[in-house]
Formats: sequence, C-alpha cells, structure tokens
Amino acid sequence: MEQELYYDTVIAGCGVGGLFTALHLPSTQKVLMICKEDVESCNSMLAQGGICVLLNEQDYNDYFEDTMRAGHYENRRESVDIMLRSSRSVIDQLIACGVDFARNSDGSLAYTREGAHSRPRICFHEDTTGQEITTKLRQAVEKLPNVELMEYTTMTDILAENGVCTGMVAKAQNGDTLRIHAHDTVMATGGIGGRYEHSTNFRCLTGDALDVAQKHGVELEHLDLFLHLL
Ligand SMILES: Cc1cc2nc3c(=O)[nH]c(=O)nc-3n(C[C@H](O)[C@H](O)[C@H](O)COP(=O)(O)OP(=O)(O)OC[C@H]3O[C@@H](n4cnc5c(N)ncnc54)[C@H](O)[C@@H]3O)c2cc1C
Repeated sequence: MEQELYYDTVIAGCGVGGLFTALHLPSTQKVLMICKEDVESCNSMLAQGGICVLLNEQDYNDYFEDTMRAGHYENRRESVDIMLRSSRSVIDQLIACGVDFARNSDGSLAYTREGAHSRPRICFHEDTTGQEITTKLRQAVEKLPNVELMEYTTMTDILAENGVCTGMVAKAQNGDTLRIHAHDTVMATGGIGGRYEHSTNFRCLTGDALDVAQKHGVELEHLDLFLHLL
C-alpha cells in the first residue's frame, strides 16, 4: 500500500546527527524522524573514546593543525573552523541535555588524549561516550511533542519536483511505501562501513543517502572510499 504523509521536516537517521538536528528545529514544526532498524542500531551508540573540544583561544592553531593532519589535509578548512569554534557550545548543549562527562575532583571537565590530538582535549564518559550522548539526546527528543520517530523505516529515494527536493520515499516495516512530503529533508544516514565485508560499524549503515543523492545528480565530494565499492 502507498501512503501520503505530510510534515514540515523529515529526517532520515536517528544517530547523533539526526537527533541533534531535531533538537534544533523550531517547536512549531511537525517533524518525522525515521531509521532503518531499531533506534539503537547506529554508529553513534558505538563511539567509545570521546568528543573533542577547543580548550581555549591558545589551543586553536594546534587543534586546527591536528585536525587537518588527521584528515590528510583534505578537510574543508571552513568546516574545520566551524567545528572548532562551535565545539564548546556543543559540549555545553550536551551537558544541558544531561550528558554526564567525566569530571576532575574540582568539578571541571576532565580531558583525555586520543588519536591525532597533540594534547588532551577529549571529553568522555567512561569508554561509552557515544552511548551516553546518544541516549541522552534521544531522551530529549522523545520529550518533544512535535517530533515523531518511526523505526524499521528505510528511505529509498527523495521526492523531487522541478529539481527541488520535496520530501522522501520510504519503506515502512509493514512493507507500505511512504511518500513523505516535507518542506525540509535531512539525510543523516551515517557512514558506509556496512558495505565493507569487515567493519566495526552496524551492517545496516550502507551510505544510502549517497546513492539517492547520486541518482538525483547532487554534487558529492570525497567519495574515494565509496566509489571503489560500486
Ligand atoms: C566502533 C566505533 C567507535 C567510534 N568512536 C568514536 C569516538 O570515540 N569519537 C568520535 O567522535 N567518533 C567515533 N566514531 C564515529 C562516530 O560514531 C560517527 O561518526 C557518528 O556516530 C556518526 O553519527 P551519524 O548520526 O552521522 O550516524 P549514525 O549514528 O551511524 O546514524 C545513522 C542513522 O541513519 C539511519 N539510516 C541509515 N540508512 C538509512 C535509510 N536508508 N533510511 C532511514 N534511516 C537510515 C540508521 O538507521 C541510523 O539511525 C566511532 C565509530 C565506531 C563505529
């Protein structure tokens, strides 16, 4: 059966990307979130180490360089700047959502050092930081009366009229085809690890948004790891 649904915003993906987006939309909007399997099957639940934050202004240049080096200098510099500059505010928002980051004995945030970072600047919650953040964000989203969440609902395409995206098409758990009309369409479908034979990622994460975008001629970049799988 085919169903026509109407929302202001539809979001594919219930990891931290989708959840954080939903939390930032005006409460006047009618929002639908969908995810491919159950809400916990997302890489956000698996992240262990933590989340980095700009320590202070003096840390900016080192943090910028660490990030660029880790990205083999292919990172978009403006995006790195936005990430660094907004990192403290993101941490503050997560704390406001109830995320319990590790603290020093004086109550200040404790930082650890990870990966490419030249100094400790990672906020963490034991070794289950992703689970802590995702669970608290989800609990915050579940309190929003304007947001609905459908599990086991897979985006298969977008709706498009005259070159403008007007929503998405999804397959519901009961096999129904949902034509979800929306003013804004967000694809927060995570990575492509599920396409690899060996991966630490959930198998259901197969870069579906990239396929849909490619089909509609949306310009994509940095597909090195994706293209050789096609
Ligand atoms: C083992 C592991 C450890 C990690 N450790 C860290 C760390 O310490 N620090 C760090 O910063 N990052 C870490 N990461 C990376 C981090 O987890 C991810 O970058 C981040 O969680 C991605 O969030 P996301 O919301 O984009 O995607 P995800 O959390 O993966 O969510 C994707 C969502 O999209 C949905 N979806 C996919 N396809 C469709 C479709 N067709 N239709 C509908 N819904 C769809 C899925 O169901 C899911 O809800 C780690 C990753 C892994 C796997």
